[in-house]
Amino acid sequence: TACLYIVATPIGNLGDLSTRAADVLRTADLVAAEDTRHSRRLLDSISADVRMLSLHEHNESQRVAQILERLDAGARIALICDAGTPLISDPGFVLVRAVRDAGHRVETLPGPCAAIAALSVSGLPTDRFVFEGFLPSRATARRRRLRELAGEPRTLVCYESSHRVAATVADIVTELGAERPVTLARELTKLHEQTVTLPAGELVDWLQADDQRRRGEFVLVIGGSEAPPPNETAGLTPERILRELLRS
Ligand code: SAM
Repeated sequence: TACLYIVATPIGNLGDLSTRAADVLRTADLVAAEDTRHSRRLLDSISADVRMLSLHEHNESQRVAQILERLDAGARIALICDAGTPLISDPGFVLVRAVRDAGHRVETLPGPCAAIAALSVSGLPTDRFVFEGFLPSRATARRRRLRELAGEPRTLVCYESSHRVAATVADIVTELGAERPVTLARELTKLHEQTVTLPAGELVDWLQADDQRRRGEFVLVIGGSEAPPPNETAGLTPERILRELLRS
């Protein structure tokens, strides 16, 4: 019966593809993927000879109508992304919403996700956390965003590219302070996997010390603010607000 499967794929180590994911990818009528050439290699590795359709941020809206038509006709369709869990800093949200609105089944095949993998080995509190995806690529916007997050008591998780990781850690020092603990998780599940936790100020030097350390894919896990939140609204009872308003 018609169903859209949201299928997580490995973030590096092919052994992390679940048996259930492999079954669905082999038997689906269609696999929608961000980059069909990239994902074809994964499908070939499990001998999944299945039709593919590209679905990326620039064509997602157009693809929705096509996919809905196929589902109406009873198709079983899998959505994958280049690596990890679709929709997590990856396309698919528009599609999932439309498919659900149309009354079709959407099933998850959970698995690797770089954010969760990094958090789980970070040694920073995991009971509550905030996923920020990619911080803005432009320096001014990135610093502004970090400033807004400076008082956030929950652990912060963000994705970063090799081009910007050093600049972002430097911005963390500026906006959150040199003492803020940061875990940098690099190349998770791959040959050069590395996870270090240092005060942000020391992490700047650590990254600077060796070019290799700035290569690959990164997740930054940032300890939450331990300072008590600013209590701007303290003492602002409804009565006092009313009085202030009537006075002006
Ligand atoms: N949907 C994916 C997921 O579930 O993890 C994330 C997609 S996002 C476009 C790609 C980013 O995820 C990379 O820039 C990097 O920040 C992070 N990432 C992906 N694989 C990683 C890995 N093996 N190690 C560290 N970070 C990784």
